[in-house]
Amino acid sequence: METAARTEPAAVIVGIDGPAGTGKSSTSKAVAAKLGLRYLDTGAQYRAITWWMLNNGIDVADPAAVASAADKPSIVSGTDPAAPAISVDGVDVSGPIRGQEVTSHVSAVSAVPEVRARITELQRAIAAAAERGIVVEGRDIGTTVLPHADLKVFLTASPEVRAARRNGELKGKEAVDLATTQAALARRDAADSGRTTAPLAKAEDAVEVDTSELTLEQVVECVVTLVEERQRDR
Ligand code: C5P
Repeated sequence: METAARTEPAAVIVGIDGPAGTGKSSTSKAVAAKLGLRYLDTGAQYRAITWWMLNNGIDVADPAAVASAADKPSIVSGTDPAAPAISVDGVDVSGPIRGQEVTSHVSAVSAVPEVRARITELQRAIAAAAERGIVVEGRDIGTTVLPHADLKVFLTASPEVRAARRNGELKGKEAVDLATTQAALARRDAADSGRTTAPLAKAEDAVEVDTSELTLEQVVECVVTLVEERQRDR
């Protein structure tokens, strides 16, 4: 009698995009942890390359200078959703990349095509190596990085809710008033949506989830259900 070969379930690839403050990171980490998948924060990679440029005297306002340095730093991302890690040339930069200096320059650096090409290549390699699958969060995952993802989600939230969440995350560290945070988020989103190469955009086949009125648990539940549906259907 022939025994059926045991096959491992195919890896599941989930892309979660959206503007800043919509809950992408919290949602992506929780979904990955619940489903036993890896997790990649692509914003952290763009922040890490920006941190390196700022620390190595590269004029981040000069796209040609940024382009010619784009392949110099070695960026390594950990993919454990319980302990996301990022290092540049062997230095753990998970703290410094969240600071105001990096945040205010990251959109300019990430708009440079050579930077995007470099980081996109890294992202695709990491996703391909994830045996059971991965949740990748960013701005262009569904449209550009992983256009064949099994599930694409686009998270949104009202500007007021996003600013309140972002101020809550800063927890007094560099906290400013709500209107200032809201204006800074709007500026960054305008830059990210307006760039020529792989702008922040919802993929045609992405499921849009407005998180304004939802708790984190509700958003996670919604995305986990969507992933399980896709896994059943394939
Ligand atoms: O997600 P986070 O706010 O940490 O992203 C920081 C910045 O990195 C974004 O404002 C954007 O300029 C850039 N980014 C990007 N493409 C991605 C993820 C982030 O351009 N996939």
